[in-house]
Amino acid sequence: MPSVPAGCRRRVGAGAYIALVSTHVPAEARPDAAVTARRWVLHIDMDAFFASAEQLTRPTLRGRPVLVGGIGQRGVVAGASYEARVFGARSAMPMHQARRLVGVSAVVVPPRGAVYSVLSGRVFDALRSRVPVLETLSFDEAFAEPAELAGASVARVEEYCAMLRALVLARTGLTASIGAGTGKQLAKIGSGLAKPDGMRVISPAEQHALLAGLPVRKLWGIGPVAESRLRGLGIETVGAFAALPEAEAASILGGSVGSALHRLARGIDDRPVAERAEAKQISAENTYERDIVTLADLRPAITAMAASAHRRLERDGRAARTVVLKLKKSDMSIVTRSFTLPYATTELSTLSAAAQRSAIDPTELGPIRLVGVGYGGLTMVRQESLFPELDQAMPADIDTDAVDAPEPVVEQPELPVGQWLPGMDVRHPEFGHGWVQGAGYGVVTVRFETSSTGPGPARTFPADESGLSRADPLASLD
Ligand SMILES: [Mg+2]
Repeated sequence: MPSVPAGCRRRVGAGAYIALVSTHVPAEARPDAAVTARRWVLHIDMDAFFASAEQLTRPTLRGRPVLVGGIGQRGVVAGASYEARVFGARSAMPMHQARRLVGVSAVVVPPRGAVYSVLSGRVFDALRSRVPVLETLSFDEAFAEPAELAGASVARVEEYCAMLRALVLARTGLTASIGAGTGKQLAKIGSGLAKPDGMRVISPAEQHALLAGLPVRKLWGIGPVAESRLRGLGIETVGAFAALPEAEAASILGGSVGSALHRLARGIDDRPVAERAEAKQISAENTYERDIVTLADLRPAITAMAASAHRRLERDGRAARTVVLKLKKSDMSIVTRSFTLPYATTELSTLSAAAQRSAIDPTELGPIRLVGVGYGGLTMVRQESLFPELDQAMPADIDTDAVDAPEPVVEQPELPVGQWLPGMDVRHPEFGHGWVQGAGYGVVTVRFETSSTGPGPARTFPADESGLSRADPLASLD
């Protein structure tokens, strides 16, 4: 444990303690307020973004343990409110496990990608109005390096972060935590320490002690494999790693990666902050030594390319909505077919099934020498399907004559009239916009509220209530 003043410690995961300067302490209370740095990088990260968006637009959920995600057998938590995290619920956890941890008070709602997308746009628009260059990492995270902060003091950076946080809150109704430091890594560590609803400026005077006390896995790019390799050598902290000779770090973790991580561990982080030039499509393709002449041989080739492109997609961090299959024939002509899903996803089984849907039997098309799979329609926001089993079991209806046919578009599965699902946005001519809180046994309970109404009343109707209709989720942002 690093030596920090009592009362100034905060638990940050298993057994690690880190000094924390509360955002409520005035800047002049920091002994290092006047310390300056040549460059200041900010990491802005929205707090529990999906769950907060739900609590914003459905005010009844404020203060409650909200789990956003799929409710089916294989449902996964896409977001958890801080009230749910208290119980140990986390993103990427199986939903059934999160529900068990939280107990009966858990509120489970399906993700509403359209709402998160609009709010994400508002967050970045607000930030860009003050910081021209943003390096977005996902729909709710970005780095910034405001030119006006070059050479600034800790106190000045704190003022600036407080201004940005107030701006985001005023424009979106959502809270952002901000970390700042002399490089990207420290800025990101800072925002992690600041959460939720806080800021943490790491001054050059404290950065070495702070880094040294962190568990080594907190270093950028240290995954489970590298961590266990280091632990096997008794290296548990960033400080212990930094104390190794650079050549040794390189030999443990591999040449360039090991050296780069060693520099980060020593607090050296010159990586620039720059707008990301984003690829429009992420793909993988392979030319085969022998032409593929049967559908039985084409299927595994498509599966392999879908998986290969998927690995790149995962590194990119975005979700795909369009799946393109490219087949180059032995006469060098190219046939491409694309398939558009009703929502963007990162799910390999869904993407692979979509690529298979476009397969054309080589006995009809002719021998194939190259197979490629590409993912397009890339967005930061992924929305889990409510009906993943439907999407994967979609029947193949390939018309081999219509190779250049316009891409098929799958609509959201239409629900029978009077069938309501929890979390669905609805509208009633008398009561306005609301969401389905519960349904079944011939009745539906709707909570009528939006971001501007405050907690609204719940009403129960017969499931075939004629006045009730499905509504645009974006109406909840009014
Ligand atoms: Mg976040």
